[in-house]
Amino acid sequence: MIRVNDNYLKLPGSYLFANIAAKARAFRQTLAVDDVISLGIGDVTQPVCDAAVAAMHDAVDELSRVESFHGYGPEQGYEFLRQAIAAGDYAPRGVKISPDEIFVSDGAKSDTGNIVDILGAGRVAVTDPVYPVYVDSNAMAGRAGDYTGTRWSGLTYLPCTEDNGFVPQLPSEKVDVVYLCFPNNPMGTVLTKDELAKWVEWAMANDVLILYDSAYEAFITNPAVPHSIFEIEGARNVAIEFRSYSKTAGFTGVRCGYAVIPDELAVEAGGRTVRLNELWKRRQCTKFNGASYISQRGAAAIYTEEGRRQTRSTIEYYLSNAAYLKGALTEMGLTAFGGTDAPYLWVKTPAGMPSWDFFDVLLRQAHLICTPGAGFGPSGEGFVRFTAFGRRESYVEAARRLKKLNI
Ligand SMILES: *Cc1c(COP(=O)(O)O)cnc(C)c1O
Repeated sequence: MIRVNDNYLKLPGSYLFANIAAKARAFRQTLAVDDVISLGIGDVTQPVCDAAVAAMHDAVDELSRVESFHGYGPEQGYEFLRQAIAAGDYAPRGVKISPDEIFVSDGAKSDTGNIVDILGAGRVAVTDPVYPVYVDSNAMAGRAGDYTGTRWSGLTYLPCTEDNGFVPQLPSEKVDVVYLCFPNNPMGTVLTKDELAKWVEWAMANDVLILYDSAYEAFITNPAVPHSIFEIEGARNVAIEFRSYSKTAGFTGVRCGYAVIPDELAVEAGGRTVRLNELWKRRQCTKFNGASYISQRGAAAIYTEEGRRQTRSTIEYYLSNAAYLKGALTEMGLTAFGGTDAPYLWVKTPAGMPSWDFFDVLLRQAHLICTPGAGFGPSGEGFVRFTAFGRRESYVEAARRLKKLNI
């Protein structure tokens, strides 16, 4: 008899973005509207930078010749990229990471989703609102209990609200693993170094693993905000960090990212000390054959001087979109958070309107698509998310339509 993993059956039916797409499609078709602007989904619009494109062209040429052909690469990623990461992303911030602690992958979604493979039973905490991958991957592994309409019974939710300045409070109950994502998707908010240091201190005192997603670190402009959790003293004993080139360098379609698992991160198990990077290496060697040579050459080119300059200018473009849209929203009396160290705006709905209702108002009256905050967790109710990843013309037109909005 074929049996399925019935944890999957507990997952709520429709995925947030599929739901939004279906609503937008129905709206377009029913009213024959063709000017809908999507500021909803978190995908980039600017092309991969020239330096990475040139490196990928060269990599393809190498693969085309017998003498420079590359087949399977190291599961952990090519040394040239892991060295560029250690030297380019960490050393300049005074953080010492060895290339052996770096695991290159096809992106941070896979890594943050797959990491549960090496973890045993334990209580998991997530911020609320939350990037859905953390929740669903735990649910699929049977670590989240049951879904009760808005939340999972087996997870600890850490509300991020206007009252606490969107800074999660330390859990009051015992947890074993916590996911933190800063700069945050969906809120666009950040933690200062002092705030993050409290989490590291607490994790060390309570034997907690922090899974730190810093996919948006390249958007940080505030010098008080750490780019890596390893800038915090002691973090090497308690944290895994995930990064991605997707939003940094337009790699959403190219696919490349990495995880850092320090040597100190270890547990007593089976009568010996087990390093988590040892287990992850074992897991990756069995289930993963590496990111493509082409992607890794492209990623390495981001660390060159021109690669940096080019990615920097695209990030500034997105941040200027965020500032522009924030200005337009504020002018019409709405309250918007985020957008200065992240490509997202977290916008309060007018007069406490439910977030799906405000989504409908924006779609019907202004033909604009946002993402209802409620889709990211119970504390997202009363908010919507706008992304800054669109093209400037879209924001100019969106601002024009927002001004005419009747709310
Ligand atoms: C976009 C995003 C990622 C990156 O995912 P990739 O698989 O690398 O494209 C990771 N975490 C968060 C929170 C994201 O929004």
